[in-house]
Amino acid sequence: MIDEIMPRLYRIIIPLPNSPLKDLNSYVIKSGDRNLIIDTGFNRTVCMEAMQAGLRALDIDLSKTDFMLTHMHSDHTGLVSRLATDTSAVYFSRIDSSVFNENINWQAMMDFALCNGFQLEELVKAVESHPGLKYSPKKIPEFTFLDDGSIIQAGDYRLKCLLTPGHTQGHICLYDENKKILFSGDHVLYDITPHIESWSYEVNSLKNYLDSLDRIKNLPVKIVLPGHRNLFTDLAGRIDELKKHHEIRVNEVLEVLGKNTMSAYDIAAGMTWDIDCESWEQFPVTQKWFAVGEAIAHLRYLESEGRIKRNTDQKIVTFSAH
Ligand SMILES: [Zn+2]
Repeated sequence: MIDEIMPRLYRIIIPLPNSPLKDLNSYVIKSGDRNLIIDTGFNRTVCMEAMQAGLRALDIDLSKTDFMLTHMHSDHTGLVSRLATDTSAVYFSRIDSSVFNENINWQAMMDFALCNGFQLEELVKAVESHPGLKYSPKKIPEFTFLDDGSIIQAGDYRLKCLLTPGHTQGHICLYDENKKILFSGDHVLYDITPHIESWSYEVNSLKNYLDSLDRIKNLPVKIVLPGHRNLFTDLAGRIDELKKHHEIRVNEVLEVLGKNTMSAYDIAAGMTWDIDCESWEQFPVTQKWFAVGEAIAHLRYLESEGRIKRNTDQKIVTFSAH
């Protein structure tokens, strides 16, 4: 499905089967000179077919097309190496690119997950079914690195990169100051809450995320173009809702913890999740991975605020109230 958002700016909706996200918004700026495609879809046939149909309908010549990836997740990056040609520039966050360069260290993430209460058998299943492993680009293209403040010019769209860490460490939004449009990637979504996770205690993802929300909250925008679902206009209002959501989640984590000493895994099992399941036992394992990652992000944030403490003297890391 395609819609025209503004002159020469289009959206191709790419289905993401079996993902709670439902689909991905791939944005296309058509220009006589170089076209630009922002985000691509999983490296899966069903995504490739939707993309090709959209590009055909828009009459896009890939040899005159560059790419920009808002962040490293495979629903945004997966197809890029199949679409990019020898003449394509692939613009990508310098920070997020390290994931591809070092070929994502799954072993370190798995060790970390075990320390946080995952059982090995379940963990192996969770990692095997993780979309990051299954649907990433098979060949890594040569990137043109983006930093905070980098500019991409596409036709008469002048897109300024805003580094907005949180959803990933190197997430980038694109802002056109003249047209007052913001490509928000997965930093701000309208219909769903962006997933915030941590797979290391070095990174305080939730704190970074909340700071990054503040960073863009007061930008003058006429329209926000997110990575998934509907476009929207009230950026500041949506950011207030997201901040409120995390405040509620943080309080829920505190409530589940109570006076207990618990692992992140057990805390995740005690939290409420917006998923069609009777109990934690029935949770699909992939979703358990995301849930535990999200619990860790909230626990790490609470620890940094001095509201709980992390105990590391045993094999399994636990948390407790002060
Ligand atoms: Zn994402």
